[in-house]
Amino acid sequence: MCGIFGIYGHPEAANIAYLGLHALQHRGQESAGIVTTEDGRFHRRVGMGLVSESFGQAEFDQLPGRGAIGQVRYSTTGGSEMRNAQPFQYEYAHGGIAIAHNGNLVNAQGVRQRLEGRGSIFQTSSDTEVIIHLLAESHEPETLERLVSALRQVTGAYSLVLLTETKLIAVRDPHGFRPLVMGRLKDAFVFSSETCSFDLIEAEFIREIEPGEVVVVSDKGLRSFKPFEAVRDPEPQRFCVFEHVYFARPDSLVNGKSTYSAREKMGHQLAIEHPVEADVVIPVPGSGLPAALGFAKQSGIPFEMGLIRSHYVGRTFIELHDSIRHFGVRLKLSPVRSVVDGKRVVVVDDSLVRGTTSRKIVKMLRGAGAREVHLRISAPPTTHSCYYGIDTPTRSELIASSHEVEEIARYVTCDSLRYLSHRGMMESVGSNTAGDGFCSACFTGIYPVPFQDDQPDAQLVKLRMSKSGK
Ligand code: SF4
Repeated sequence: MCGIFGIYGHPEAANIAYLGLHALQHRGQESAGIVTTEDGRFHRRVGMGLVSESFGQAEFDQLPGRGAIGQVRYSTTGGSEMRNAQPFQYEYAHGGIAIAHNGNLVNAQGVRQRLEGRGSIFQTSSDTEVIIHLLAESHEPETLERLVSALRQVTGAYSLVLLTETKLIAVRDPHGFRPLVMGRLKDAFVFSSETCSFDLIEAEFIREIEPGEVVVVSDKGLRSFKPFEAVRDPEPQRFCVFEHVYFARPDSLVNGKSTYSAREKMGHQLAIEHPVEADVVIPVPGSGLPAALGFAKQSGIPFEMGLIRSHYVGRTFIELHDSIRHFGVRLKLSPVRSVVDGKRVVVVDDSLVRGTTSRKIVKMLRGAGAREVHLRISAPPTTHSCYYGIDTPTRSELIASSHEVEEIARYVTCDSLRYLSHRGMMESVGSNTAGDGFCSACFTGIYPVPFQDDQPDAQLVKLRMSKSGK
């Protein structure tokens, strides 16, 4: 999963891109990068780690220009290494081009093998690079046509921002798996994975980029195209429901809906579907919080912060110190004894992936005196891996792929475990009961775009969830 940002027509494009990426930091913490253009020249700075770790004054001094694109990355294809840090920037027969991508191409491996067979040499192990190779070998006269020709040859999930010497191009795949929004900042146009970027830079939100839409911004203004219309018609929108469940920031508007409200509704619906007698409702801090509020409001059970999250434990810190790694969840979360001691506690979380984190949370709460611990998950059981750009474990590691709910409850050692129904989740995000308009494959196994590369899951889908190590 990644966050992407673009701006065109602003004298401080790099500074604004920095702020935009900062607001998208929850979408990727492995690397951050910005590319700008000025007078036909490209300037690129990328670094490993957080946005704040990758950019200082020296970097900004080297990023002049009125156009910029940027990315924060969490790898799903291609390892976490400097050569895969985006945006990528290339020079080819028709000039220069830079690209930043959010999503996963499901046929990238096959396309890459064909390209390599024809002599292409790749600089990275990222799926994004195949788009540029396809664009470079196209015989179309204009960049835009070459890009469309390239994108017609790839399938899967992509929201893109690209920068040429004179244009910024924003694209969303025909299914619209990943979000991409457009806004205005004075005379400049801005693009971002989520609207929370616009709030920070005080840009006006205009609208979402539509599935299959290509938007081009240059000094001549803004143009919009639907070059994939023929492809799109039989393949309706499939926005990732997991963006609402877990990934997007709660203050963002994605797919036309407030993420916060969607999560609160999920909690509300969860309390209707699976009530329990208890003394207190507590969230797992982070994305589970609005759902816990919704659960508390619907059930009438008091809401309290029974778990406190430390904001100062970075992944690097844990990875560097072997001796403290086994403290794991305890480093991030600690129970509030005065809230849970002697109480029947409902813990609301947004997902239960391997079960190991939930098990530790239950143990912690019992250690702090909780009399009963009832776990409520504001989404259905995660039974399948994602091929479209969310960093989920392989299927064999997903506990719900091979265990019934009661078996999971025994493993987690909670007094009861219940999940929100698929129907409840879809209604909470404004869909119909069939889930039209959304992808929910990690809950159903019904994949809207078949995975075409002939490689094992483990190569494509890495083994961790990016935000909380679940
Ligand atoms: Fe989102 Fe799940 Fe579909 Fe992946 S499989 S796009 S995480 S809903």
